[in-house]
Amino acid sequence: MTESVVNADVVIIGAGPVGMTLALALADGAQRVLLVDRRPRGAWVNDPRALALSHGSRQLLERLKAWNARAATAIRQIHVSQRGGFGRTLIDAEDYDAPALGYVMRYRDLADELDAGLNTDQVMASCSVDAIEAEEGGVCVDVTHDGQSRRIAARLVVHAEGTPDDEADVKVMDYRQHAVVAEVTTRDGHRHRACERFTPDGPLALLPLDDGFSIVFTVPPEKAGRLLALDDAAFLDALRDQFGRRMEFTACRARASFPLALRVRSPLVRSRQVWIGNAAQSLHPVSGQGFNLGLRDAWELAEILAETLHRQADVGDPSALSAYARGRGLDRRGSMAFTDGIVRLFSNDIAPLRMARGLGLMALDLAPPLRHFVTRRMIWGARAWL
Ligand SMILES: Cc1cc2nc3c(=O)[nH]c(=O)nc-3n(C[C@H](O)[C@H](O)[C@H](O)COP(=O)(O)OP(=O)(O)OC[C@H]3O[C@@H](n4cnc5c(N)ncnc54)[C@H](O)[C@@H]3O)c2cc1C
Repeated sequence: MTESVVNADVVIIGAGPVGMTLALALADGAQRVLLVDRRPRGAWVNDPRALALSHGSRQLLERLKAWNARAATAIRQIHVSQRGGFGRTLIDAEDYDAPALGYVMRYRDLADELDAGLNTDQVMASCSVDAIEAEEGGVCVDVTHDGQSRRIAARLVVHAEGTPDDEADVKVMDYRQHAVVAEVTTRDGHRHRACERFTPDGPLALLPLDDGFSIVFTVPPEKAGRLLALDDAAFLDALRDQFGRRMEFTACRARASFPLALRVRSPLVRSRQVWIGNAAQSLHPVSGQGFNLGLRDAWELAEILAETLHRQADVGDPSALSAYARGRGLDRRGSMAFTDGIVRLFSNDIAPLRMARGLGLMALDLAPPLRHFVTRRMIWGARAWL
């Protein structure tokens, strides 16, 4: 039985980095915003991921006072190469009008910083959503919180609950790959250089983080299981195999694996509900676009909602929500096509493709406009399409 009713203008389901970003971006407005998460607050403490953040994301987080400079490691160069094939390229921040090509931050540090900006009474943690029902003039969210059934009477529900399961509105492209993540140290340190190495198993990224690297190694699922089962010394040997003698790995910690698929939701808007972040699109991590794209979702939705409020209109106004969905089209399509293209081209060891990759890397090295295109995407995200 429903025991109490809470009123809110906007209910955000999912207090991950994207949901929290939206809550902070709406903080200056007059709306009452509630965040609901099924996990306890701070549950991200064990998340082993590190995220590459674009310079554009840094600027948005700074505007929200959620940029933790101490937790961020700058990427000043990116070295791209392939194992067993020719071609390489080096992208250097000095060639561009930006202090860094991007930054690397642990998921948990990002989440801590965003969480610190929220009011405690805005967050219902360890809370399960039992039903959502749109009705005339509003939407009801039934939840169980602290063992109590509650009803939240709201005007808009924002879904930010991360990667969706198989649902009718979600198209799934299973890459049949897993990302093995770990933190490693090397004898020579990183000198703020990230490496993207294309191997016969899949892309291997080394992202500078603190005094070592965060690695993301994309491999077939069976190999992911084997890599996780290795002891540390054998795991470092497996990494050494991918780089030859160029890298002397000395230690590793925090190993985990994530299954990889492209999941795209359409439509993004339906009767007083809107989907953002991974709940709207989950991308392969190869080009480090997922959170950067989700951050822009949150930012643009906050702008549209602020404008709706300014007009003293209903935040669930279907025309404003449709405008949001239309506005996100180019950025979403561009980011998905860019990421999916890299996965397809670089997750295959057929000889002609290896040749094509080598030529592609040479073209990047020799053709400044092409390199600028790729680099601008990394630094600025959406603005690179415009
Ligand atoms: C290995 C790996 C590396 C990556 N590297 C990068 C990178 O370098 N750069 C980048 O930009 N992106 C990267 N990503 C993608 C990035 O992690 C995601 O895009 C980002 O975490 C999405 O944030 P989110 O808040 O939408 O979802 P999530 O981070 O998944 O958060 C969702 C939140 O919703 C809550 N939740 C879930 N279900 C419910 C429910 N039913 N009810 C209530 N709450 C619920 C969860 O507890 C969680 O707190 C990477 C991903 C992986 C797997």
